[in-house]
Amino acid sequence: MRRHNIAVIGTGYVGLTAGACLASLGHRVVCADVDPAKVERLSRGEVTIREESLPELVRAGLDSGLLTFVLGAGEAVREADTVFSCVGTPMSQDGDLDMTAVDAVIDEIRDRLRPGCVLVTKSTVPVGTAARLTRRLGRPDVQVASNPEFLREGTSVHDFLHPDRVVVGAESREAAEHVAALYAKLDAPMMITDAASAELIKYAANCFLAVKLSYVNVIAELCERVGADIGQVTTALGMDHRIGGAFLRPGPGWGGSCLPKDTRAMLRTAESADIDFRLLRAAIDANVHQRERITDKIARVCGTDSAAPLDGVRLGVLGLTFKAGTDDLRDSPATAIAQELSRLGAELVAYDPALSTGSHPPEPVPGVTIVDDPYQAAKGAAGLVLFTEWPEFRDLDWGRMAAVLDRAVIVDTRNHLDPEALRAARIAWHGVGVRPVV
Ligand code: NAD
Repeated sequence: MRRHNIAVIGTGYVGLTAGACLASLGHRVVCADVDPAKVERLSRGEVTIREESLPELVRAGLDSGLLTFVLGAGEAVREADTVFSCVGTPMSQDGDLDMTAVDAVIDEIRDRLRPGCVLVTKSTVPVGTAARLTRRLGRPDVQVASNPEFLREGTSVHDFLHPDRVVVGAESREAAEHVAALYAKLDAPMMITDAASAELIKYAANCFLAVKLSYVNVIAELCERVGADIGQVTTALGMDHRIGGAFLRPGPGWGGSCLPKDTRAMLRTAESADIDFRLLRAAIDANVHQRERITDKIARVCGTDSAAPLDGVRLGVLGLTFKAGTDDLRDSPATAIAQELSRLGAELVAYDPALSTGSHPPEPVPGVTIVDDPYQAAKGAAGLVLFTEWPEFRDLDWGRMAAVLDRAVIVDTRNHLDPEALRAARIAWHGVGVRPVV
């Protein structure tokens, strides 16, 4: 395999993972970020996010000399034959996608790119972006390609190196093949397509997952009403190979840095194509409803009988990140529900393994006190709420937990705990889509 000179712009979850993995495949990779502190720490081998195997991979890249970090996109691209843009595309206040960082990168590198180089967008961007960036760049000697990323936070290195598929889209077959060749060492199906299809594939995948999760959450609500058990229902559903077992667990609503913004962006894309994507809108509405439903359940189970059931009520919280294995709090359903509970007068004390022991200090969640110990979170509480499915929560000492709780009750929004273990400790368990075990 030919060794390529690659620049990766943006060293977040996607960029840092891509940079370190591409270096591990034997390429020479220069990663750039705008954040000087991040660049300095990464240059010392200090990984700023919580991702399995990433620190080791970054260290190996630095030691081999194949991976370096620089400040600013302009610095990174001078020698590059391929430039990956991996900057953030967050949702702006008005619900539109904020493409400021993507456009800023183009302006920063325009006059520094080598002739013949390929510019690849890895960030999740709306359909038509490759065509728009080609015009903005104004460099006929530079091809633009789309190579959407499907990695999951928490398992990003594994997912990058063992993807279900690699998708590369470009108007020029030569550019697409150039990008595909970078992945030659991976044992993964390669799909070469046009740029618009590649851009749409990413949204179509994420929106499908959001619809699947909303569907399961509504089935869970139905289970509660009719006395069925969501665990039994989804186990049987998942055995059907046409449906598949993944993304079938009910929860407090979907969230994270991708699904909420990607579903919104897809709605905008559909609108601009004169399509009313009712199904997707319904999935988003169902997600809002799920968060409200979980808030109501917590108030019912842990609150008082008064008109303001949560006023002055202390709640212990287990987990705040949007899922286990990551330290990412962006658009976490846990933080959204916690803030709503706080608005309703509850006092929340939370423990999350990633926020206590993660590689960066905990980000403040308004209205929530973060502590370093799960039993401290539970102390004197009128109930516990589990939001995140951290494996270690299964191994908590429930006898000790019962002793420190003011009321021995838990709302398990992920159906993550063993209700029988809780029953043995005389803690009442309230899951989602299933009868309580009290
Ligand atoms: P992130 O916020 O973690 O990282 C973005 C990085 O880009 C930050 O370090 C920021 O400082 C840097 N940056 C911003 N402007 C820059 C510039 N002009 N030059 C250099 N660096 C700059 O974001 P992320 O989670 O890695 O996501 C990046 C993109 O990938 C988004 O479009 C996202 O939707 C998509 N994506 C994310 C995931 C995920 O799980 N996080 C998965 C697939 C796709």
